[in-house]
Amino acid sequence: MAACTRAPEPVHVQFLAFGTLNEITVVGAPEARAQRAAAAVEQLFNQQHRDWHAWQAGALTRINANIARGEAAPVEPALGALIAEAKRLSLASEGLFNPALGKLFALWSWQGEERRAAPPTPDEIATVLAARPDMRAVHLVDGQLRSDKPTVQLDLGAIAKGHAAEAGANLLARMGIEHALIASAGDIRALGNAGGQPGGRPWRIGIRHPRRAGTLGSVELHDGESVSTSGDYERYFMHAGRRYHHLLDPRDGQPARGTQAVTVIHREGARADAAATALFIAGPGDFRRIAARMDIALALLVDDAGHVYLTPAMAARITLEPEVTLAAAP
Ligand code: ADP
Ligand code: MG
Repeated sequence: MAACTRAPEPVHVQFLAFGTLNEITVVGAPEARAQRAAAAVEQLFNQQHRDWHAWQAGALTRINANIARGEAAPVEPALGALIAEAKRLSLASEGLFNPALGKLFALWSWQGEERRAAPPTPDEIATVLAARPDMRAVHLVDGQLRSDKPTVQLDLGAIAKGHAAEAGANLLARMGIEHALIASAGDIRALGNAGGQPGGRPWRIGIRHPRRAGTLGSVELHDGESVSTSGDYERYFMHAGRRYHHLLDPRDGQPARGTQAVTVIHREGARADAAATALFIAGPGDFRRIAARMDIALALLVDDAGHVYLTPAMAARITLEPEVTLAAAP
């Protein structure tokens, strides 16, 4: 009977969490099971959104309040593991990924819903950076977090969605889903393949062009891989004809210059996400070196002239649109 052998239709679910659109596509599973599993992921994301929020009251804001008072803070295991991973990734990135700079992100209005009309003054930025808040000051021992510096304020915005996409895929797998794609804005995780059966065609992801409608190219994403993109086109305000975006260089407190977008593939979602941010800030001159330090083999960077830089592994993986210009090899 044809009706019994036909593969089930793909199931698409969309919901808001982490202040953005999240999308789950499940293939090769019965509709009811796919819906149940997607609903569980939505619940997980909402929980993590509450626990990890950098400014709405929750577990992380309680930790930040303790840090500001110079007190130790109890941290539950899942959040502690993410903060510990954020510290390792921050050190590997030479501090370019610096989730201890919550005060700087708040100053630029990347915390909260209201956007600034103009950039902060050099004095305001210097005040926030003077104490050099960074993850070296943060210590996690026996479920207690301490900071040597009360100026540290944790903001996991550059790592949370990548971590969540991986955790969501793991939850789907535990609920009997074998083939799915989870996207939390620019942080995407593949489970199984797009064909919904063993040996099916792989998931394929379009990489958005940072300045035009359409894509730069596309990559296959294999089972258990995450892809993260950071771009200057997602969140920014214009002032006096200049674009002030949300990816801040910890060395001078300004929006990082020289890059329009970075895309990274790695098996660890948190690492892909943090590295996309770090490599954006590293820029064309340093991105290969920082990628190697962060154990990233697959990376792409678009510089401010729109030229594309690829690591060798990414060059072998990506299919570029014909009009894309590659940067001259260094
Ligand atoms: P998106 O949130 O658009 O996916 P990212 O993953 O790169 O982009 O995270 C950007 C957010 O991370 C910013 O909104 C800000 O809160 C924070 N951030 C900005 N610069 C840095 C940095 N150098 N290190 C760590 N976090 C940063
Ligand atoms: Mg990121």
